[in-house]
Amino acid sequence: MSNEITNYRGRFAPSPSGPLHFGSLVAAMGSYLDARHAGGIWLVRMEDLDTPRVKPAAADKILATLEAFGFEWDEKILRQNNPHRSDAYRQALAKLAARDAIYRCACTRKEINESGVPGVEGSVYPGTCRIKPPAGRAAKTIRVRTDDTGIGFRDLICGEIQQQVLSECGDFIVRRADGLVAYQLAVVVDDAFQGINRVVRGADLLFSTPRQIVLQKLLGLPTPEYAHLPLVKDANGRKLSKQSLAQPVNNAHPLPALLAAWRLLGQVKPEHDLGNPNEFWAWAVPKWKLSQVPKDSSMVSRLNLPAD
Ligand code: GLU
Repeated sequence: MSNEITNYRGRFAPSPSGPLHFGSLVAAMGSYLDARHAGGIWLVRMEDLDTPRVKPAAADKILATLEAFGFEWDEKILRQNNPHRSDAYRQALAKLAARDAIYRCACTRKEINESGVPGVEGSVYPGTCRIKPPAGRAAKTIRVRTDDTGIGFRDLICGEIQQQVLSECGDFIVRRADGLVAYQLAVVVDDAFQGINRVVRGADLLFSTPRQIVLQKLLGLPTPEYAHLPLVKDANGRKLSKQSLAQPVNNAHPLPALLAAWRLLGQVKPEHDLGNPNEFWAWAVPKWKLSQVPKDSSMVSRLNLPAD
């Protein structure tokens, strides 16, 4: 099947919970090159919704790094933490409520862990509050009612992905107990708002995609194409993340990190020296091949799918 796409609109959506590390550089590069290779638009969205995890100045630092590495984004940066977006998320919640697709839940994480079956990400929600939260308990979380319809999509890197959200994840949170809209809902609303038709991001979000498709269906929004890039692991095999305090990339020496990210994405070796980021991008954009990007076999195997 061809991976051609018309009027490509892609995005990189960092969370400003720390500076850009090598793992996020790989995600930025994969989404950028795939969009630019297709002559498409590439946007940056600052996912600063999870305010307790946002670090002061991290958004500015991320943008400064993207600039130092020669990324050029189109259109204005969308920040999730702004009143217009809050209205949009509220409207989406109201739409879900009008469809009777959500309910309030009083369960704590500890209770769910104790009673739940292990799922794709933590314990499967056992449905305790589906009919009604237990009397006398404050029900602050809002969950989506899922059903046993299987959700399937063809990931452009990982292949066919199937998930039964009800049994593998359970009813999931769209508004957290602290009142913040959950990532799963915000990302779906924002991808549709920005007209994103191909999402290229890290394979840690492979298991989230079926939940996002559930929400797209309930809200009548289009489903973009998805391509999940291999994750960068540390020496202990753990995903590099801002939480694990992965080292930020060095703005003063972008080229070595760009070349390392390019190699990790399985791309052809440069046949001549590239002197600076501009030369790198001018050379890399036409050479980019999504079909060369390796599958993240550790993620894919967690879905009981063949690794190759
Ligand atoms: N904000 C997420 C992150 O920094 C990425 C979300 C997405 O690409 O959908 O890992």
